[in-house]
Amino acid sequence: MGRPGPLSLNTITVREQWSLEQAIEGCRRHGITGIAPWRDKLAECGVERAARLIRSAGLCVTGLCRGGLFPGIDQAARRRAIEDNLRAIDEAAAIGARCLVLVVGGLPPGSKDITGARAQVRDGMMAILDHARRSQMPLAIEPLHPMYAADRACINTLGQALDLCDELGEGVGVAVDVYHVWWDPDLARQIARAGRRILAFHICDWLVPTRDLLLDRGMMGDGVIDIPAIRVKVEAAGYEGHCEVEIMSAANWWRRDADEVLRVCIERHASSV
Ligand code: ZN
Repeated sequence: MGRPGPLSLNTITVREQWSLEQAIEGCRRHGITGIAPWRDKLAECGVERAARLIRSAGLCVTGLCRGGLFPGIDQAARRRAIEDNLRAIDEAAAIGARCLVLVVGGLPPGSKDITGARAQVRDGMMAILDHARRSQMPLAIEPLHPMYAADRACINTLGQALDLCDELGEGVGVAVDVYHVWWDPDLARQIARAGRRILAFHICDWLVPTRDLLLDRGMMGDGVIDIPAIRVKVEAAGYEGHCEVEIMSAANWWRRDADEVLRVCIERHASSV
């Protein structure tokens, strides 16, 4: 088994400790060559300024988190979501991101119509696709674990995401996050099917027990995911990019010194990815 692709820092991993500027500086200090900012931190820093800082640090932007959240209670809400996604595409292009990561959205408030929500996701993506293509900004659908189907993303398997990619065509791919897909009995087949459409590879671990549905992700090696086995399949499919560490951990990693978090990420990237 060869070594994994280089490490990228998804800034949510140190969300509580660092601003985007501090994260950029932290990556430089620790020799991390990739970064994936979230839009709230990007807005705080200013898009132009962030673009300059990232460029001068020589970082590869492995993705911008995030667009999506398409389903809405009415036409006006869906329109607002589309407009926000068009802005997200521009921001991603301004910082030279490899892709815009889409967390597609779940059920609108009060709705029980998941089929309808999925149709709204497809329609929303169709509405932004021309702009994404013109901006040369690939859209990366991130299938989320089914426990988030109601409130975050009604696309829940890699197979389902790829069906949508097939339908939409050029300019759309997937973000494979081990946290969301590791349990899927069809994973190997779907990773092979994805091929070059894998635009990002996110790493962390599934803790047993998991104490919070959203904010209890584990450091690579601390949980039950066979990360190297998935990583090798992703590379065999043609992915040559970074391994992006993305850990939301309110009780543990967000409470530690950020430099220590980055040191452990680097160690575990070498030993457990
Ligand atoms: Zn992810």
